[in-house]
Amino acid sequence: MTPKILIVGAGPTGMTAALELARRGIAADIIEKRDAPSPLSRAVGILPSSMAIFAASGVDKVIREAALEVAEVEIFFERKKIVSLHMDADPDPHVRLLSLPQDRTETILRDALANRNVSVRYGKSLERLEQNETHVRVRIDGESAEYDYVLAADGARSTARTQLGLTFEGFDLPETWSIADIEVDDWPRVGFFSVYLRKNGEAVFVIPMEAHRYRLVANAPDALATMPGTVDVSRLNRSGQFTIGIRQVERYSRGRVFLAGDAAHTHSPVGGRGMNLGISDAAEWAQRLADGTLDGYHASRHAAGRKIIDFSESSRKGVLTANRLKRTTTLAALRIFNAIPALNRQMVRRMLLS
Ligand SMILES: Cc1cc2nc3c(=O)[nH]c(=O)nc-3n(C[C@H](O)[C@H](O)[C@H](O)COP(=O)(O)OP(=O)(O)OC[C@H]3O[C@@H](n4cnc5c(N)ncnc54)[C@H](O)[C@@H]3O)c2cc1C
Repeated sequence: MTPKILIVGAGPTGMTAALELARRGIAADIIEKRDAPSPLSRAVGILPSSMAIFAASGVDKVIREAALEVAEVEIFFERKKIVSLHMDADPDPHVRLLSLPQDRTETILRDALANRNVSVRYGKSLERLEQNETHVRVRIDGESAEYDYVLAADGARSTARTQLGLTFEGFDLPETWSIADIEVDDWPRVGFFSVYLRKNGEAVFVIPMEAHRYRLVANAPDALATMPGTVDVSRLNRSGQFTIGIRQVERYSRGRVFLAGDAAHTHSPVGGRGMNLGISDAAEWAQRLADGTLDGYHASRHAAGRKIIDFSESSRKGVLTANRLKRTTTLAALRIFNAIPALNRQMVRRMLLS
């Protein structure tokens, strides 16, 4: 008999899980507490690992058509360019960095689900969850229902994680981060992903989203003010501040309930892994559900999450530092990698495939 499945949360993780099940002919209910899709552009970088997953359902082609391919990643120290990585250096055309605002990625996933007759149930919130050996009982907006398995893809403040009594182990970074979604008519670096490092350890990442639209993220309270020099902004779509937790849940599963995406892990945006890691969790969970190997889900995804958190943290600490000696060492290493084409290619592969 086909198991009855509930997916909680219709972010990229939840929708990928639903799609990966649907393409195998397994139906799932997917609920989302928002009344409507999120309009926020949050994660923009789509890595080869996610595109390989999307290829199985054909979504990769739609994303490739909609996304912008990042041509170069440039790193500046104050105003001096020290690295210029050619992101198309790898002969494998799949080893590329694509950029698409998260709301558009989510629209593509939602459309792909609709094509397979799966609709997200908006305005439905998981309130409670309890389980025994044979099923999980949930309360959704005051109504009870029973499922064989639940995938909690309900984000960093996961209700399911709290209900299961699982600890979100880790710490919060002390600094305030900021974001700005800007449009600039005459930005000279169209299609370039630029990183501006400052002496004081602050940095701003400028990520291309569309021809004249850019995302700024900084480890400082005002992303625009962290730019060296002035930027002639024609339109500010959104700006805001946020704090970052470097956290991982102690267990990715308890009984018949499984955690994936931000519900299971959070880290800094350095390395652009957050959304992509959730997509990988979702794909592996769906595969294991279909294969009957869910027992191995926790060990496998906990190890994968740990590796990415360590990668993101070592990148963050290496690049965003006010320590002069540490920074000089990092910049010297980057200059060497930049000067030798084979090392340049190796660095691109590490950035995109780690
Ligand atoms: C400002 C900002 C910038 C970011 N930039 C980047 C970036 O550049 N690169 C990157 O990789 N990542 C970035 N991220 C992180 C990225 O957005 C997340 O990693 C990604 O959204 C995780 O997807 P998810 O589906 O696991 O969780 P979410 O996208 O958070 O989705 C969870 C969903 O569950 C729903 N939900 C919550 N509780 C319930 C409930 N009780 N019942 C039903 N539904 C519920 C929520 O409404 C939400 O829609 C950024 C995040 C923020 C906030």
